[in-house]
Amino acid sequence: MQKDSNHPANGLTRRDFLRLASVTGAGVFTGSLTGCGPLWERQPVIEVEDWHQGVCRFCGTGCGVQIGVNNGKVVDVQGDKAAHNRGRLCVKGIMNRDILYAEDRLLYPMIKRNGEFEQVSWEEAMELIADRFNTAIGEKGPDSVAYYGSGQLFTEESYTANKLFKAGIGTNNVDGNPRLCMASAAVGYTSVFGKDEPMGCYEDIDEAECFFITGSNMADCHPIVWERVQDRKRARPDVPVIVVDPRKTNTAEKADLHLQIKPGTDVSLYNAMLYEFFRRGMIDDDMAANYCTYRRDGNETDLATLRQHVQQYDPDSVAPVCGVAADLIREAAWRFGSAGATMSLWTMGLNQQKQGTASNQLVMAMHLLTGHIGRPGATPFSLTGQPNAGGGVRDTGALAHALPNGRAVANPEHRREMEELWNVPEGRISPEMGHHTVGLFQAMERGEVECCLIMSTNPLHSLPNILRYREAMENTFVVVADSFHPTETTKYADVILPAAMWTEKGGVFSQSERRYHYVPKIVEAPGECRADFDILMELADRLGHEDLFPNRTQQDIWEEWRHISEHSDYNFKGITYDRLKGQPGILWPCPDEEHPGTCRRYVPGEDPLARDDGRHDFYGRPDGRAVIFLYDQQDPVDPVDEEFPLTLTTGRVLEHWHTETITRKLEQLDRVPTDFLEIHPADARRLEIQQDMPVWVESRRGGATFRAKVTQNIREGLVFATMHSAKHLINKATSDAYDPDSRQPDYKRCAVKVIPEHQLS
Ligand code: SF4
Repeated sequence: MQKDSNHPANGLTRRDFLRLASVTGAGVFTGSLTGCGPLWERQPVIEVEDWHQGVCRFCGTGCGVQIGVNNGKVVDVQGDKAAHNRGRLCVKGIMNRDILYAEDRLLYPMIKRNGEFEQVSWEEAMELIADRFNTAIGEKGPDSVAYYGSGQLFTEESYTANKLFKAGIGTNNVDGNPRLCMASAAVGYTSVFGKDEPMGCYEDIDEAECFFITGSNMADCHPIVWERVQDRKRARPDVPVIVVDPRKTNTAEKADLHLQIKPGTDVSLYNAMLYEFFRRGMIDDDMAANYCTYRRDGNETDLATLRQHVQQYDPDSVAPVCGVAADLIREAAWRFGSAGATMSLWTMGLNQQKQGTASNQLVMAMHLLTGHIGRPGATPFSLTGQPNAGGGVRDTGALAHALPNGRAVANPEHRREMEELWNVPEGRISPEMGHHTVGLFQAMERGEVECCLIMSTNPLHSLPNILRYREAMENTFVVVADSFHPTETTKYADVILPAAMWTEKGGVFSQSERRYHYVPKIVEAPGECRADFDILMELADRLGHEDLFPNRTQQDIWEEWRHISEHSDYNFKGITYDRLKGQPGILWPCPDEEHPGTCRRYVPGEDPLARDDGRHDFYGRPDGRAVIFLYDQQDPVDPVDEEFPLTLTTGRVLEHWHTETITRKLEQLDRVPTDFLEIHPADARRLEIQQDMPVWVESRRGGATFRAKVTQNIREGLVFATMHSAKHLINKATSDAYDPDSRQPDYKRCAVKVIPEHQLS
């Protein structure tokens, strides 16, 4: 789609950002605008006719926005002062308006014929899709088809897809991109507390007396949450910020303590901190004895065994493993344990590891054993990557192993319960776990999955070891619903369906702190775009499963979903569309329409589901006690050697979103580079690499070209690339080894070599 040059939202320059910031007050706009040159000029303020309350469509911070509309077009987006973000937005939030009018919108259904896409009618496209799915199911059974979804769909959409595939078609081949970002946190919470999702909330930031930020570059990836941490620091400069990160990120630069850890050695570090907690008498005896149980290798154990276990992880022994000075580890442990209230924040750096689940469990153990839990400011708190990976995918159970509200496919009781709630015959839900993300693409490679519906995500960019999975796509009938074309994934599709975007469709998102909030439909989608929800409904009808959805609107689905939640520990029956439309979100549990929502779960007196006795009620567990797991550090799965002597780790920058299919379209963000490879000066010298020199990065799987960025901000022996660029696709090199519990791939550590491009023969 070409830009409408008359539309005021087009042609926004970087100067506009500052103008937009200025209209909502000082400090509203935040962000470094890395590499963007001089400040931009201000533009005249756009007069706005109508304002609508909504939510940013990008990250899991879930900032409230006010959306300005003139003549059926979005002309302005500002931070909502009534929402948790206090009127602030980062650069991506401000760009929400421009994404609607960016180039390359997919406007019509298309079918690939003889290697070329041809525009077709919706009727023709849907008929072909239904025919291929029905044929595969008829000939090879339900497990020959699959759904691959996204944390960027609305809750009603992910719920509908999950129900269609699991309760209708009868396959658990339902997974999606949250597997790539949050699975280790989800399994961490579920294994420790019995149920997924953090127990704390953003208000805890205002009360914390120590921040332990591990595996998160919040300043770039959750910038508005980071601003709230900075607010706390400004109000209380004595509150320490501890950052654990292999790079000196924008977050680490502001830290009081920076533990510049070697990637993938988190288990050693957290065991060393536990060692220090024992040594310095910082264990909360009541919590350790009365609210926790202990487990090692699937067997019950006890606190004394844990104490014994961590003796091998004293800071002096761990220092060379982690690459962090022993005194720094001791200092971090002391600050964590001795503070009045410690809050941990983490995301991909912890989750995207071979021991991602173990790392999550150990951070939770650190909070449990020191009593930094369930009090204002004291909580372990994972930051969700996408705007609706939590409420949309994790909570609806739209993953291969899961069923709604923390139920598991493997549990016969849970299957029976969901069959009853979904009103389908007993035995309809398969007892077999479906294919998790990497496994799904491997099943496609083997020809076991013949048809796959992919919605609102770009796996042929975001999967690790991507060259392998391109071939898998060629073996499969692939349907992709997306708002833009081409992407790395639509290029390999057989059918592409034009999907409506943010504000062209309405629905419910849920962000990091369990807050459900509503985004209204405000404007019409261009061309023949349809909401993903409508596409799923039509597919259900064409596959003969219309009975699953007797009520047809998205609001009907929300009604069904909130009533289903009543039968679980995620009870949010009190969260209605009407309530959501009147305020910037509600945190669940929220069992009735009078309930204001719950800031802290598991806390008697605060959480309506907790028994009102004792300090805590971890009611997701049968005995009400959290589980502390004992772990040892494992060796890397893709170790460095003479041929591949450097370690590669990956991450993101503030201005771009995931695979850049949206943000790269915007002129202002297009100027922000993502083609660089950070390398330490000592490594650069040894390899004869100079600043900005083109370099080839290669692992045991594949490689790509980058521009060298020689910087002291990275450890010697480590290189860093962003996940963003399709042109410089680092996932040709990353490893598809995954955590055995969460099945989340290890993007954070693999062995590579780096060669100046001119030296390549
Ligand atoms: S921090 Fe996240 S949710 Fe908030 S404006 Fe930025 S991208 Fe949007």
